[in-house]
Amino acid sequence: TPVIGVLALQGDVREHLIALAAADAVARPVRRPEELAEVDALVLPGGESTTISKLAVLFGVMEPLRARVRDGMPVYGTCAGMIMLADKILDPRSGQETIGGIDMIVRRNAFGRQNESFEAAVDVRGVAGDPVEGVFIRAPWVESVGAGAEVLAEHEGHIVAVRQGNALATSFHPELTGDHRVHSLFVDMVRAYRTPESL
Ligand code: GLN
Repeated sequence: TPVIGVLALQGDVREHLIALAAADAVARPVRRPEELAEVDALVLPGGESTTISKLAVLFGVMEPLRARVRDGMPVYGTCAGMIMLADKILDPRSGQETIGGIDMIVRRNAFGRQNESFEAAVDVRGVAGDPVEGVFIRAPWVESVGAGAEVLAEHEGHIVAVRQGNALATSFHPELTGDHRVHSLFVDMVRAYRTPESL
Protein backbone atom coordinates (compact mmCIF):
# COMPACT_ATOMS: atom_id res chain seq x y z
CA THR A 1 0.00 0.00 0.00
CA PRO A 2 1.48 3.38 -0.97
CA VAL A 3 2.18 5.86 1.81
CA ILE A 4 1.06 9.33 0.75
CA GLY A 5 1.75 12.47 2.73
CA VAL A 6 -0.35 15.62 2.84
CA LEU A 7 1.64 18.82 3.30
CA ALA A 8 0.18 19.99 6.61
CA LEU A 9 1.31 23.61 6.96
CA GLN A 10 -2.07 25.22 6.21
CA GLY A 11 -5.23 24.35 4.30
CA ASP A 12 -7.68 21.47 3.97
CA VAL A 13 -5.32 18.74 5.14
CA ARG A 14 -7.88 16.59 6.95
CA GLU A 15 -10.15 16.29 3.92
CA HIS A 16 -7.26 15.01 1.80
CA LEU A 17 -6.22 12.50 4.48
CA ILE A 18 -9.76 11.12 4.46
CA ALA A 19 -10.02 11.05 0.64
CA LEU A 20 -6.65 9.27 0.31
CA ALA A 21 -7.62 6.65 2.88
CA ALA A 22 -10.87 6.10 0.95
CA ALA A 23 -8.78 5.62 -2.19
CA ASP A 24 -6.81 2.81 -0.48
CA ALA A 25 -3.63 4.67 0.42
CA VAL A 26 -2.01 5.11 3.81
CA ALA A 27 -2.17 8.86 4.40
CA ARG A 28 -0.29 10.98 6.91
CA PRO A 29 0.48 14.65 7.50
CA VAL A 30 3.92 15.97 6.52
CA ARG A 31 5.52 19.12 7.92
CA ARG A 32 9.23 18.45 8.22
CA PRO A 33 11.95 17.23 5.86
CA GLU A 34 12.29 13.96 7.87
CA GLU A 35 8.58 13.27 7.39
CA LEU A 36 8.79 14.08 3.68
CA ALA A 37 11.62 11.57 3.30
CA GLU A 38 9.33 8.76 4.53
CA VAL A 39 6.45 9.10 2.05
CA ASP A 40 6.11 7.70 -1.48
CA ALA A 41 4.12 10.68 -2.72
CA LEU A 42 2.62 13.95 -1.56
CA VAL A 43 -0.60 15.96 -1.78
CA LEU A 44 -0.52 19.75 -1.61
CA PRO A 45 -3.87 20.87 -0.18
CA GLY A 46 -6.09 23.82 -0.93
CA GLY A 47 -5.75 26.84 1.30
CA GLU A 48 -3.77 30.02 0.77
CA SER A 49 -0.76 29.61 -1.46
CA THR A 50 1.26 32.58 -0.13
CA THR A 51 0.87 31.30 3.45
CA ILE A 52 1.81 27.75 2.44
CA SER A 53 4.82 29.08 0.54
CA LYS A 54 6.08 31.15 3.48
CA LEU A 55 5.54 28.33 5.99
CA ALA A 56 7.33 25.85 3.71
CA VAL A 57 10.38 28.11 3.70
CA LEU A 58 10.10 28.62 7.48
CA PHE A 59 9.87 24.87 8.16
CA GLY A 60 12.89 24.23 5.93
CA VAL A 61 10.85 21.98 3.67
CA MET A 62 10.76 24.09 0.47
CA GLU A 63 14.10 22.92 -0.94
CA PRO A 64 13.51 19.25 0.02
CA LEU A 65 10.10 19.50 -1.71
CA ARG A 66 11.70 20.87 -4.88
CA ALA A 67 14.34 18.14 -4.79
CA ARG A 68 11.80 15.32 -4.46
CA VAL A 69 9.53 16.70 -7.17
CA ARG A 70 12.57 17.05 -9.46
CA ASP A 71 13.40 13.41 -8.64
CA GLY A 72 9.97 12.32 -9.87
CA MET A 73 8.04 11.83 -6.63
CA PRO A 74 4.31 11.76 -7.51
CA VAL A 75 2.61 14.92 -6.32
CA TYR A 76 -0.97 16.20 -6.52
CA GLY A 77 -1.99 19.79 -5.80
CA THR A 78 -5.53 21.15 -5.45
CA CYS A 79 -6.23 24.88 -5.83
CA ALA A 80 -3.50 26.54 -3.68
CA GLY A 81 -1.63 23.25 -4.21
CA MET A 82 -1.95 23.71 -7.98
CA ILE A 83 -0.39 27.15 -7.58
CA MET A 84 2.49 25.55 -5.62
CA LEU A 85 3.18 23.23 -8.57
CA ALA A 86 3.28 25.95 -11.21
CA ASP A 87 6.65 26.87 -12.65
CA LYS A 88 5.29 30.42 -12.91
CA ILE A 89 2.59 32.53 -11.22
CA LEU A 90 1.20 35.36 -13.30
CA ASP A 91 0.50 37.61 -10.31
CA PRO A 92 2.57 36.41 -7.33
CA ARG A 93 2.29 38.21 -4.02
CA SER A 94 5.53 39.51 -2.58
CA GLY A 95 7.59 36.73 -1.06
CA GLN A 96 5.49 34.06 -2.75
CA GLU A 97 7.49 31.14 -4.13
CA THR A 98 6.43 27.89 -5.72
CA ILE A 99 7.81 24.36 -5.69
CA GLY A 100 7.29 24.12 -9.44
CA GLY A 101 7.23 20.91 -11.44
CA ILE A 102 4.56 21.66 -14.02
CA ASP A 103 5.42 23.83 -16.99
CA MET A 104 2.41 26.12 -16.66
CA ILE A 105 1.53 29.68 -15.79
CA VAL A 106 -1.30 30.06 -13.26
CA ARG A 107 -3.48 33.05 -12.49
CA ARG A 108 -4.50 33.23 -8.82
CA ASN A 109 -8.15 33.92 -7.91
CA ALA A 110 -8.81 33.85 -11.63
CA PHE A 111 -12.51 33.12 -11.62
CA GLY A 112 -13.18 36.52 -10.09
CA ARG A 113 -15.30 38.11 -7.43
CA GLN A 114 -18.75 37.39 -8.81
CA ASN A 115 -17.86 33.74 -8.97
CA GLU A 116 -15.50 33.36 -6.05
CA SER A 117 -17.05 30.03 -5.19
CA PHE A 118 -19.12 27.80 -7.42
CA GLU A 119 -19.64 24.22 -8.45
CA ALA A 120 -19.58 22.86 -11.95
CA ALA A 121 -19.50 19.47 -13.64
CA VAL A 122 -16.02 18.88 -15.04
CA ASP A 123 -14.95 16.17 -17.46
CA VAL A 124 -11.52 14.99 -16.39
CA ARG A 125 -9.39 12.93 -18.78
CA GLY A 126 -8.49 9.66 -17.09
CA VAL A 127 -11.55 9.67 -14.82
CA ALA A 128 -14.16 7.27 -16.17
CA GLY A 129 -17.90 7.71 -15.83
CA ASP A 130 -19.83 10.83 -14.96
CA PRO A 131 -18.15 14.23 -14.86
CA VAL A 132 -16.50 15.17 -11.59
CA GLU A 133 -18.30 17.68 -9.37
CA GLY A 134 -15.83 20.56 -9.41
CA VAL A 135 -15.83 22.70 -6.27
CA PHE A 136 -14.09 26.00 -7.08
CA ILE A 137 -13.18 28.30 -4.15
CA ARG A 138 -11.29 31.45 -5.14
CA ALA A 139 -9.74 29.11 -7.63
CA PRO A 140 -6.83 29.68 -9.98
CA TRP A 141 -6.92 28.77 -13.63
CA VAL A 142 -4.05 27.87 -15.89
CA GLU A 143 -3.25 30.58 -18.41
CA SER A 144 -1.01 28.40 -20.53
CA VAL A 145 0.94 25.16 -20.46
CA GLY A 146 4.26 24.25 -22.01
CA ALA A 147 4.86 21.35 -24.36
CA GLY A 148 5.48 18.80 -21.59
CA ALA A 149 2.21 19.37 -19.77
CA GLU A 150 -1.05 17.63 -20.65
CA VAL A 151 -4.38 19.42 -20.17
CA LEU A 152 -6.84 17.05 -18.43
CA ALA A 153 -9.82 19.37 -18.04
CA GLU A 154 -11.22 22.76 -18.95
CA HIS A 155 -14.09 24.81 -17.58
CA GLU A 156 -15.62 27.46 -19.83
CA GLY A 157 -12.50 27.56 -21.96
CA HIS A 158 -10.07 27.78 -19.04
CA ILE A 159 -7.64 25.02 -18.12
CA VAL A 160 -8.49 23.59 -14.68
CA ALA A 161 -6.60 20.26 -14.55
CA VAL A 162 -3.09 19.47 -15.77
CA ARG A 163 -0.64 16.59 -15.59
CA GLN A 164 3.06 16.58 -16.32
CA GLY A 165 4.81 13.28 -15.65
CA ASN A 166 4.11 12.41 -12.03
CA ALA A 167 2.71 15.81 -11.14
CA LEU A 168 -1.07 16.36 -11.16
CA ALA A 169 -2.93 19.59 -10.41
CA THR A 170 -6.58 20.67 -10.28
CA SER A 171 -8.08 24.14 -9.75
CA PHE A 172 -10.94 22.50 -7.90
CA HIS A 173 -11.25 20.42 -4.71
CA PRO A 174 -12.25 16.75 -5.15
CA GLU A 175 -11.39 16.25 -1.47
CA LEU A 176 -14.54 18.20 -0.55
CA THR A 177 -17.03 16.10 -2.50
CA GLY A 178 -16.92 12.50 -1.25
CA ASP A 179 -16.15 11.39 -4.83
CA HIS A 180 -12.69 9.82 -4.61
CA ARG A 181 -12.07 9.15 -8.31
CA VAL A 182 -9.45 11.87 -8.76
CA HIS A 183 -7.63 10.69 -5.64
CA SER A 184 -7.82 7.14 -7.03
CA LEU A 185 -6.28 8.37 -10.28
CA PHE A 186 -3.44 9.82 -8.21
CA VAL A 187 -3.04 6.65 -6.12
CA ASP A 188 -2.81 4.70 -9.41
CA MET A 189 -0.02 7.06 -10.53
CA VAL A 190 1.78 6.37 -7.24
CA ARG A 191 1.39 2.59 -7.62
CA ALA A 192 2.71 2.73 -11.20
CA TYR A 193 5.71 4.74 -10.02
CA ARG A 194 6.46 2.30 -7.18
CA THR A 195 6.14 -0.76 -9.42
CA PRO A 196 7.84 0.11 -12.70
CA GLU A 197 6.96 -2.19 -15.60
CA SER A 198 10.64 -2.98 -15.99
CA LEU A 199 10.65 -4.95 -12.72
N1 GLN B 1 -6.99 31.76 -3.72
C1 GLN B 1 -6.15 30.87 -3.00
C2 GLN B 1 -4.67 31.15 -3.29
O1 GLN B 1 -4.37 32.02 -4.05
C3 GLN B 1 -6.46 29.42 -3.33
C4 GLN B 1 -7.82 29.08 -2.81
C5 GLN B 1 -8.01 27.64 -2.49
O2 GLN B 1 -7.04 26.85 -2.32
N2 GLN B 1 -9.23 27.25 -2.32
O3 GLN B 1 -3.83 30.51 -2.73
